[in-house]
Amino acid sequence: MKIENYIRDIQGFPKEGILFKDITPLLNDVKARQECLSLLVNSLNGQKIDKVVGAESRGFFFGMLLAQELNAGFVPVRKPKKLPFETISASYELEYGTDSLEMHTDAIKKGDRILIHDDVLATGGTAKAVCELVEKLGGEIVQCNFLMELTFLNGREKIKEFPIFAVLSY
Ligand code: 5GP
Repeated sequence: MKIENYIRDIQGFPKEGILFKDITPLLNDVKARQECLSLLVNSLNGQKIDKVVGAESRGFFFGMLLAQELNAGFVPVRKPKKLPFETISASYELEYGTDSLEMHTDAIKKGDRILIHDDVLATGGTAKAVCELVEKLGGEIVQCNFLMELTFLNGREKIKEFPIFAVLSY
């Protein structure tokens, strides 16, 4: 089973000059998905996780599978104004300007052991903002994990104080 065979390169999406890694073939295959989930779970070496925090929107797919497998809660981090209850927010840099992410204030309790998940670690801006949200509520970040890391963008540097695992590296 080669998981990389289930990641499709799309040239020029969402705009010219970008080579987009499309995970939908992976989502659509039971065995590849299971293999990927096992690698993510095994990377934790049995460390206890209270909550998995997934970043909108592709972080929700494996984030929820991980939460189920780890017997943990699931916390969605979303774009502004999507969450209905009281929220906290963290902003991050885009190529042009900034954007922000939100999380419900009651989603994490002080001392909760947290696994952060997203599909891709690119520049690291998203992951860093998610880490900030978790820490604002007193969560303890056990690991940040990803299906893929785009190493040439050096996103790892932005979250270097936390353990990082990626199933695939490009
Ligand atoms: P960063 O904030 O690290 O620059 O970007 C990571 C975010 O952008 C992730 O939430 C991820 O979903 C999205 N992203 C960036 N590049 C890609 C890509 O090539 N493929 C996919 N599937 N998502 C990407």
